[in-house]
Amino acid sequence: MASIDELRREAHWSYSALNTYLNVCQLQYFFRYVEPAEIERTSACFPFGKAFHAVLTAQAWECVMGSSLTHQESVELFAEAFKIESEATSNLIYKEGENFDLMLVLADRMLDAALANWSDYYTIKGVAQAFKINVPGLKKPLIGEWDLLVQDGRDVCIVDWKTSANRWPAGKADRDLQATVFSYAYEKLNGTTPLFRFDVITKAKNPVCETHYTCRNESALQRFESLAARVQDAVDKGVFLPNETSFACAECPYKNRCKNWR
Ligand code: SF4
Repeated sequence: MASIDELRREAHWSYSALNTYLNVCQLQYFFRYVEPAEIERTSACFPFGKAFHAVLTAQAWECVMGSSLTHQESVELFAEAFKIESEATSNLIYKEGENFDLMLVLADRMLDAALANWSDYYTIKGVAQAFKINVPGLKKPLIGEWDLLVQDGRDVCIVDWKTSANRWPAGKADRDLQATVFSYAYEKLNGTTPLFRFDVITKAKNPVCETHYTCRNESALQRFESLAARVQDAVDKGVFLPNETSFACAECPYKNRCKNWR
């Protein structure tokens, strides 16, 4: 299978695009995926999340080879990745009271929590595995990448790493679209429904790493097909309404453009 970067070169749908349309803001979807408009600002939490993710991927590969990153190695890897990602990001903005060095300090504590909680030493079946499937009703293939696949008892479990400002409430994983999309793709390619696990590391003074298990049944996967087909239909018809009470408005990369929308 091609890498996710190779798959991204062709026209595609992704969980991120579907989620933007369904749960964030249709107008933001339009600016990002249809126009696409110039990005006015990007919150530093995006390169931060990417760098954090890169370290956990490196840790997973170390485990495949029978080893493990030391805390110091993980912090150095993070610093390097965060610098590269930040420099590659256009119009980067930090929140008030936030800067590059303070985010390094935060990452140090978060990596401590993530690696202390790490349990996937001997059960890894795949790291950063890209997928591409066709979904009935979608006019382009759906692509994505599973962060980690592990054997969990008799089942395969997809693991996804998240950094989050807050602890996840009970039930959030059961409603999460990403778990549905990624489980759907796994089922289509392998013929069995996987477990799904989010490992959520909080961006707090005292970070915690919590695991949230969920799974999707056949009914949920069929419902996703209907949802995806309706999104395609709405996009084809040009339905792109602003969601002015969206949680995403505060850090929207298209704020000025949105103000001028009529
Ligand atoms: S500012 Fe809010 S309503 Fe406007 S495009 Fe962004 S997310 Fe949508």
